[in-house]
Amino acid sequence: MGLCLSLALAQGGIPVCLIEQLGDHNLLEQVPRAGTNHPATLEMYQRIGLYDRLAPRGIVAPVFHYWDRHESRLIAAFDHVHLKDDTAFPFVLQCERIKIVEEAMVLAKIHPLIDLRLLTQFTGFAQDADRIVARVADPAGDEEAIEGAFLVGCEGARSLVRKEMGTLFEGFTYSDRTLNIEVAYDFRQHGYAERNYISDPDEWSNLFHWKGPPDRWRVHFPTAPGDDPEAITKPEALQARLQRFLATGRDFTIVASNLYTVHQRVANKFRIGRAILAGDAAHVNSPIGAMGLNSGVHDAFNLADKLIAILRGEAGDDVLDRYERQRRHVALAHTQAQTIRNKRLLAERDPAVRRRNHDELARTAEDPARAREFLLRSSLIASLREADAIA
Ligand SMILES: Cc1cc2nc3c(=O)[nH]c(=O)nc-3n(C[C@H](O)[C@H](O)[C@H](O)COP(=O)(O)OP(=O)(O)OC[C@H]3O[C@@H](n4cnc5c(N)ncnc54)[C@H](O)[C@@H]3O)c2cc1C
Repeated sequence: MGLCLSLALAQGGIPVCLIEQLGDHNLLEQVPRAGTNHPATLEMYQRIGLYDRLAPRGIVAPVFHYWDRHESRLIAAFDHVHLKDDTAFPFVLQCERIKIVEEAMVLAKIHPLIDLRLLTQFTGFAQDADRIVARVADPAGDEEAIEGAFLVGCEGARSLVRKEMGTLFEGFTYSDRTLNIEVAYDFRQHGYAERNYISDPDEWSNLFHWKGPPDRWRVHFPTAPGDDPEAITKPEALQARLQRFLATGRDFTIVASNLYTVHQRVANKFRIGRAILAGDAAHVNSPIGAMGLNSGVHDAFNLADKLIAILRGEAGDDVLDRYERQRRHVALAHTQAQTIRNKRLLAERDPAVRRRNHDELARTAEDPARAREFLLRSSLIASLREADAIA
């Protein structure tokens, strides 16, 4: 989020100081994480010159599937072609966060208005009516105070800016953790699309394709609250789980695996004076539906336009309250509500409810008008339109 915001601000003529604790040597060593980029997000990347850098590194995926694992059948196929009149990008781009960071960093490094400080730790801030001062420390522990007009906390779920603002991070944490296994295996030969949501009362899953090398598919599985993390991530346990998912009789080539905790939380304030939150610092949600990174990018562009207007003297600070009203509404009414619903749908245990949900999905996918409405919501275009209407 920090990179998108900085690029949008700098391209609007606003000088930015971007603080990042990681350095060139370890920035790309992170878990790839988010990777499904929705159409409206692609439009935003295009605005800052990022889309053309990402497209060759990603997979264009117009269609996504819902599967019933219990009955081994495809429930519904949704095609973004129904959004052809709503967006210039009627597809998602499967391109992981780490590639987005790498490409955006190239653009940030060459922009004369971006003062990029890698290997720099943000440690706190103080503000008055006119200025805000951020405290940062270099790897040797030497401290520096950086003065500016605004401070935007884009430092993820554990945001220090949020803690120092004294805002609450309201919501809950799922008791079960999600297991993510990346395998080099082409699931398309079994009829899967590049992006699949798979319902099963015993073990729901998600299956996504990423461009290599090596070409990889990420499979998400739920785990039980009492599971021993070490035992369930042993290679033989991962292989057994994958064979239960798809019995090939041969070991899968496992590229990576990790276990993560899923939170559904939204900050009760996105702004206190000159300190503002965006992205995971402001809201976190389950990855089912690919909304975390996307809604964070949408925060960044909404905020960039408002900060540019304020700093050019074209708007007052009160537009930042509108930012909070718009983006907090989206976090609560769209990202949270939809991701909670998505998980419930995939994990539903009642056979009658499952049948009803699946029939409803199938009918929606088959009717072009209803499919478009569904896709407007799932791709967050509806959330942006709704936010635009908030005064
Ligand atoms: C396994 C997994 C899969 C996911 N899949 C999806 C998906 O398919 N689609 C989707 O939309 N979302 C997905 N998400 C969520 C998505 O990754 C996040 O929403 C997104 O990365 C948030 O971006 P951010 O910039 O707000 O925070 P982050 O990506 O967490 O970035 C924060 C940055 O701030 C830096 N930082 C932190 N603290 C400090 C400090 N004190 N000083 C200096 N720098 C600091 C960090 O090093 C980091 O570079 C997934 C998440 C996980 C865990």
